[in-house]
Amino acid sequence: MGKNSETLFQRAQETIPGGVNSPVRAFKGVGGTPLFVDMAQGSRIFDADNLQYIDCVGSWGPMILGHGHRYVVEAVKKAATRGFSYGAPTLGEIELAEMIVQALPSIEMVRLVNSGTEATMSALRLARAATGRKKIIKFDGGYHGHVDSLLVKAGSGGATFNVPDSAGVPKEVTELTISVAFNDLDAVRTVIDKEVAAVIVEPVAGNMGCVPPSDGFLQGLRDLCTENGALLIFDEVMTGFRVAYGGAQSIFDIKPDITTLGKIIGGGMPIGAYGASKELMQLVSPLGPMYQAGTLSGNPVAVAAGKATLGVLKNSSIYADLEERSGEFETGVVKAAEKHGVPLTVNRAGSMWTIFFTEGPVTDYESANRSNRDKFARFFHLMLGEGVYLPPSQLEAAFFSAAHAKKDILQLIERADRVLKKIAWEFEK
Ligand SMILES: *Cc1c(COP(=O)(O)O)cnc(C)c1O
Repeated sequence: MGKNSETLFQRAQETIPGGVNSPVRAFKGVGGTPLFVDMAQGSRIFDADNLQYIDCVGSWGPMILGHGHRYVVEAVKKAATRGFSYGAPTLGEIELAEMIVQALPSIEMVRLVNSGTEATMSALRLARAATGRKKIIKFDGGYHGHVDSLLVKAGSGGATFNVPDSAGVPKEVTELTISVAFNDLDAVRTVIDKEVAAVIVEPVAGNMGCVPPSDGFLQGLRDLCTENGALLIFDEVMTGFRVAYGGAQSIFDIKPDITTLGKIIGGGMPIGAYGASKELMQLVSPLGPMYQAGTLSGNPVAVAAGKATLGVLKNSSIYADLEERSGEFETGVVKAAEKHGVPLTVNRAGSMWTIFFTEGPVTDYESANRSNRDKFARFFHLMLGEGVYLPPSQLEAAFFSAAHAKKDILQLIERADRVLKKIAWEFEK
């Protein structure tokens, strides 16, 4: 690790818990010192030591156009000169809401918030307001932000650090949350009853690493919710505008009752959203009795970045290109692993993917956890040494952007091949 990142990390730890403002950034899942980032452009990030990396984190999902896309930068600059925040409604918010409603037919009205966490927290409140019920069903390794009641067998940092249930959350709060295995309809069938307000699911799980739904799983959830009068919440904070413009719900052709969004709809600026039918959204204040508010909600600069990002995504071949390049990468890595005799499983949904160091298949939290974390950590650091920045945890998804050109993909495969050869020497003898 570079000297400047080391120095900054030492300094950061004096005034910021663990030196980071979000836990997984701290590299605790792989050991070592996090890169302090100086700037990013296109598919590359540059650290405080002026080293360059191919970025496969993409700010954990938002940067689908790559860093510093000129349309987005222009939109942000223009918005910033007009004032940062007014606490009053603006035209831009209507336009972004219209783009979301157009992209996701299950959403007729949408409320903007400031993060994915706020979106899921509000979605639960809406589901409870609409049904008058209390209980929530989620999935092991599913992550929906740091909402108290959802920090039960949570993915992302909770899984990485083996603290799936957070301290500081009273058991009375999590008593109403039931967590079962992803892709296990029977488990849902067993626990769902007339007290369940909602089932919340990442339609393609991304926070236990990338784990796609098995055939019929999402339709089964839809049916079970309908039969029991529970609402189905698709947490598309990661998958919305990522796996397709219309999100995972467009690919699997399922209509959730409530959808949460974040990440890409802000183009890298802080934002979140929850949307549903007019009937449900009419419960939200000031139309209805469910209270939810935000000083900076619909922030004009964030909205400008989001609108510009969705605008570029909408009329483009980006999703087809991403699929092709991501597929090429997957094939390349799988081939290299076979050549060197390293057992691994690549899970992928479009441009979101994870390389699990296990024979697989990886279909849920338990099978994701069978991955060899030492091997992943070694892979991570060797790739970093090759100039590739991966998510610093086995249980996170990586991302490609429109800025990852064919030659970036070829470089990535070449580097992964070299690294897997070393891994084979070190682990498979
Ligand atoms: C990132 C994420 C969240 C939380 O969003 P924040 O903006 O980090 O609060 C919620 N749900 C899913 C599926 C996510 O990937």
